[in-house]
Amino acid sequence: MSFISLSAMGFGTNATGLALCASGGSDGFNTLAIHAGWTPDPNTGEVIPPISRSATFAQHEPGVPVGLDEYARASNPTRRVLEQRLATLEGANHAVAVASGLAATTLIMHSLPNNSRVLVGDDVYGGTYRLTATAFRDIHQFRYLDTTSLSTVEAMMTEFRPNLVWVESPTNPLLQITDIAGVAVLCRKCRALLLVDNTFSSPFLQNPLKLGADFVFHSTTKYINGHSDAIGGVVMLNDDEVHGQLQMLQNTLGLNLDAYPAWLTLRGVSTLGIRMERHQDNAQSVAEMLETHPEVERVIYPGLTSHPQHELAKSQMSGFGGMVTFFVKGGLERATVFLTGLRVFTLAESLGGIESLANHPARMTHASIPEARRGELGITDNLIRLSVGIEDEKDLIADLEQAFAGSRA
Ligand SMILES: *Cc1c(COP(=O)(O)O)cnc(C)c1O
Repeated sequence: MSFISLSAMGFGTNATGLALCASGGSDGFNTLAIHAGWTPDPNTGEVIPPISRSATFAQHEPGVPVGLDEYARASNPTRRVLEQRLATLEGANHAVAVASGLAATTLIMHSLPNNSRVLVGDDVYGGTYRLTATAFRDIHQFRYLDTTSLSTVEAMMTEFRPNLVWVESPTNPLLQITDIAGVAVLCRKCRALLLVDNTFSSPFLQNPLKLGADFVFHSTTKYINGHSDAIGGVVMLNDDEVHGQLQMLQNTLGLNLDAYPAWLTLRGVSTLGIRMERHQDNAQSVAEMLETHPEVERVIYPGLTSHPQHELAKSQMSGFGGMVTFFVKGGLERATVFLTGLRVFTLAESLGGIESLANHPARMTHASIPEARRGELGITDNLIRLSVGIEDEKDLIADLEQAFAGSRA
């Protein structure tokens, strides 16, 4: 597949013509999260968009559909509402919602001409790494690098001349921050496209298109849906022509998001703003508690002044999110006893839901990364990643305390 000619990608497209919304253009994030993309149906009065279950749609005459949809793989009314709402929240002209975050990665990778050069952050989501290192390994050329260092990126731009740069910020699980505007300037100079995986921040905390990125990517499974009950992914962009190509390609590849998870995601995203505020209040408290805890070696949270990129995070994000990573004193065994001793935090993969989760990257989310590579990246056996939920702060703190006490040697 190679629908996108890189030269067709308009740089610096301005974000006018924002998705329609129920109310005026100056509405705030929470208002848009609830209303964008939908006004009560004039025929039925439905306040909430229905789950459209129809696989096919009637036509007046051949090629003239009654509404906007012909076949639900290509487009579907519920999914269109979601796409419009997400685009509005991210400040993008367009959104293409697909079946998972990795379906969105597949979509982007197939949109590039074969043998493209793709520069990927070396601390990206494990599944993103696996997709590039296996399924697309013989289709494109990949190089992995530390995107937090602008000089490293710049050197690689000249040497490798990438067509696409894939950045995650903050990263998973080490919460490293990349200077998105800085990388965007380097990309523009070399006519490379920039994609930012914005899953950890959500559109509430960071808007990479405004910082100069060409694509924003989300696993909507995480904060956007926020209830751990629907898998989905989305790519957002401003360019009209590339949007048309991506829509056609998602239909060609069959990557479509079904109406039911689309509807759940619409319901979930309505409360994104208030959830994120609570997530990060709780996360800040948890991070501060861990930082002074005698059983903890080190804490990584962008909201701590001890985070090496705290100032950069402050400059490009409006908050620091709900993910906290720390190193417990001891090794694999200590980490295991600690994790199995938690009561409120559930030991599980994934993140971004209302419930607090604890994860052991070396054995769980990042197990597909070879051990030697994990060592180079600093994903050690005593590293624990918390997705801090929206429960009562005191219960989360008490839970961590009792798990530390119960796992002391
Ligand atoms: C979960 C995740 C993905 C993959 O999304 P799925 O919906 O699980 O396919 C990609 N990037 C990040 C940062 C993620 O957390």
